[in-house]
Amino acid sequence: MTHNRMTRRTMLKGAVAMSALFAASGELLAQQAVPRSASGPRATLPARGEFVIRGATVLTMDPAIADLPAGDVHVRDGAIVAVGAQVNAPNAQVIQGRGMICMPGFIDTHWHLWTSLFRPYVRGDVGALGYFPVSNRLGQLMAPEDSYRAVALGTAEALSAGVTTVHNWAHNVRSADHADGELSAMRDAGIRGRFAYGPAQGMPDDQPMDFEGMARVKRDWMPNDGLLTLGICSRNVGAMSIGGATRGVLTMDQVKRDWGGARALGLPITLHTSGPSPIKALEEAGLLGPDVQLIHPLLTTPEEREILKRRGVSYSTAPVGESGRAAALGVIQLGELLEAGVKVSLSTDHTTNFNCDPFVGMRMLFQLHNHRIGAKYPLTMKRMVQLATLDGAVDLGIADRTGSLTPGKRADIILVRTTDINMTPVGDPYEALVSLGQPANVDTVIVDGRVIRQANKFTALDHARIVRDAQEATAALRSKANWPPT
Ligand SMILES: [Zn+2]
Repeated sequence: MTHNRMTRRTMLKGAVAMSALFAASGELLAQQAVPRSASGPRATLPARGEFVIRGATVLTMDPAIADLPAGDVHVRDGAIVAVGAQVNAPNAQVIQGRGMICMPGFIDTHWHLWTSLFRPYVRGDVGALGYFPVSNRLGQLMAPEDSYRAVALGTAEALSAGVTTVHNWAHNVRSADHADGELSAMRDAGIRGRFAYGPAQGMPDDQPMDFEGMARVKRDWMPNDGLLTLGICSRNVGAMSIGGATRGVLTMDQVKRDWGGARALGLPITLHTSGPSPIKALEEAGLLGPDVQLIHPLLTTPEEREILKRRGVSYSTAPVGESGRAAALGVIQLGELLEAGVKVSLSTDHTTNFNCDPFVGMRMLFQLHNHRIGAKYPLTMKRMVQLATLDGAVDLGIADRTGSLTPGKRADIILVRTTDINMTPVGDPYEALVSLGQPANVDTVIVDGRVIRQANKFTALDHARIVRDAQEATAALRSKANWPPT
């Protein structure tokens, strides 16, 4: 961590943050002024007004509120006011919901948004250019502006796919400015999410996490409008065969140091468990609790699942990446976890060599579950949609405000077109979502009562600029790294 605190403070004081200058091939590529602080000017997002979605197939995901074949959802000042067959809302603007499924937005519980710039360099079929070596090398060259642009690209993709909440697994916080860059991008996108403050790529394992930086983020950024929350992402625990270079490998004493510091600040913890399972060791050290989320449920034993249930630990599965791993590294234990009563949620992981597609995530999980277990523990399509919505909110501890269409909760809502060629004629809406859906069917995306996308287009975010900024930043990183490596 080489951050110069005085420099950062001086920059932020004037509420003006100058972006880094990017040089590639000796040319100046970009110089932009983008807000970079909690107090800085907010990007212009649509206001939270009053509207009613009429005539949609409403999937509430609330066990106490029935679905409606044709119903209305009334939203005012960012909150869901009413859900019913015909809601009386004379002053509300009408959003036409006919031919659409109206449902809670998807909740993605583990995504390394900072790696979104590496898409041109990561190869799924060339080991030396895999996700881990590329992100470890280029991650160490990232400037705060790169962090902003990567997260701007990632959150734009999330919103386009109907994801309204993202757990940003930020294990490349190289300075306070990098943290502010990622948080600013999340704020400017208007997305809900948890920022999991991590170590930096290349940071020595014996170096503690940046507790002062976490406290500063908590003070400067939380709660504001309540969309962003804070946690930490832990480096790996014990000997790991996967991802050691990018995630670090901690001894149990180092885990106690890092997790203890996080807990002193009241922050939840997330940890990858790919490779030999650390669950028993963590339990013996007294470290597991409901504030812990684990990632990649591949190698748990029945005894460990019992521990997870007892401690209230949740598990996030990222089916696209996990299913591509060698069989020796385990299988996705969705059925075993659900049967044991462990909380499970769904995630993208990263978008370097796969895209964000919650529909494919649900579909793959369902198919792999049937492939392995099938009738022994039958799952419904509705259960798969619940994994991608309400269960994600439970995992992140925000089910009091999102994850279902419940009056009183915040309005995180998507409309999915059922008249598209790949969806029509539609039968059971859950079947359609899981078996047939794709991000292009997501017509409208509402976060906290703001209409962020409508008719497949951003209402305020500048799509072209996000793309251009990402392309420029990626090219500059290539130049900095003298990429491709020789
Ligand atoms: Zn991950």
